[in-house]
Amino acid sequence: MTKEELHILLASDDMPFRKAAIDEIVCTFPEHADLFFAPFGQDDELALAMANAAKQWMPFLRDGHAEPVNPFDAGKNYAYFDSMAKHYGAFLREMHKHHADQDALWHHFPGLRAELKDATPHEEPVKNRQLMVFVTGRCNLHCPYCFSKELKRMSISREDMTRVLDWAQRANVKSILPCGGEPLLYEHMDWLIEEVGQRGLKVYFATNLSVPLPESVLRQEGIIEQLHVHLTEEIFRNEHLMQTFLHNLRLCRDKGIYIILRGNICEGNETGLYDEWLRIAEENNIRSLNVAFTIPSHTGSNRYVSFEALRPTIPHLSYLWEQAKQRQIRLSVAKPLPLCMFPEDLAQEILRTNLTATYCNIGEDGGLHNLSLSTDLRFSPCLGVDEPSVAFADDLQWNDLKAVFSPAVRTMLSQPLFAHCKDCFLYNRNLCQGACLSFKQESRNGGASCGE
Ligand code: SF4
Ligand code: SF4
Repeated sequence: MTKEELHILLASDDMPFRKAAIDEIVCTFPEHADLFFAPFGQDDELALAMANAAKQWMPFLRDGHAEPVNPFDAGKNYAYFDSMAKHYGAFLREMHKHHADQDALWHHFPGLRAELKDATPHEEPVKNRQLMVFVTGRCNLHCPYCFSKELKRMSISREDMTRVLDWAQRANVKSILPCGGEPLLYEHMDWLIEEVGQRGLKVYFATNLSVPLPESVLRQEGIIEQLHVHLTEEIFRNEHLMQTFLHNLRLCRDKGIYIILRGNICEGNETGLYDEWLRIAEENNIRSLNVAFTIPSHTGSNRYVSFEALRPTIPHLSYLWEQAKQRQIRLSVAKPLPLCMFPEDLAQEILRTNLTATYCNIGEDGGLHNLSLSTDLRFSPCLGVDEPSVAFADDLQWNDLKAVFSPAVRTMLSQPLFAHCKDCFLYNRNLCQGACLSFKQESRNGGASCGE
């Protein structure tokens, strides 16, 4: 498109036309850098749309797991993701050339802040505070790769759960995420869903959907925001479980619950299994498939994908990527990945389409965004990180937890996964934490440190 055509489309009231122009400007940067920078400080609506598209195509503009403290060194060559570093250098040159509005860029692009006049670290306001509660250790499957392998096989009593909900409300939590085990097997699940609804909170959770549905799941209106439905290997091997699963899946879908299918990539999977995932998605008109390489449980005794096993498993993700694209199913990755181990073109594509492919959101809300409470009522930073932990108490303050977890999470996030991370552009911009932090806890993997 010519510059004149882009101008006309940007001024159009028709959103798809504007979107097409924005995508073209962003994807061809720096060719139309003047059009890119023009709305910042001038037209807030257009600037926001431009910024959102830019953060997808230019990952260096994203928040990262911490704000970069060092300005970019344009003369440095990186062994990993150097092409992105060069792109960043070009972006900065154009930004200065066009005298772009620094305040507006500071607001829209946290990744740029080290280069702008005020680089003070900045805490974003919390949009939706949430609390994950491991309500029960019971499960009908106990899959060998599950991260909850060592979870105590007990359930939280109704009395304790009431205390937890009271505490959560005092702490301004808006969403409760029951976890397990299989949360649908929690003996107080009917009560919990109704209680949460009466308190004006929301619920979302992951489930294998292969057990009878508690009545409240189908009775509730708008309390369950979404379900992450696990496509477990065990279900594919058992006709009865599969029938129950499909029946429940359709009931939940018809109830209007937003469903994301979730598959675990493990060593030894056959591509036929991935075809089955995609078939289930298509036949049930579910357009989102979320996949993860399995992570270590607290002692690392489950069947998780180690770094040695990751490389041979990458073609599995590649296969799924292509197949999902052909079928117009949105594929996302659930846990951060060390993309330096991937072929460059796949790594770039994963980065573009997944805002959290290289870092998770555990660092938000002062390191408490994924706060978890175990069945024995101990808080930990998330389901994959059980150290440090703090015992639940009715008078515990949110800031008490923050004081313990925030430094621990920050340290783990910035710990390089490999010796070569120091030579990676993503690492230098705080754009990659390497992997899920469960790999970084030395108590796992037999006490060995991660990476090289
Ligand atoms: S794991 Fe390290 S080298 Fe690999 S992409 Fe992340 S920061 Fe870069
Ligand atoms: S560290 Fe791992 S388990 Fe914890 S929030 Fe991040 S990706 Fe999830």
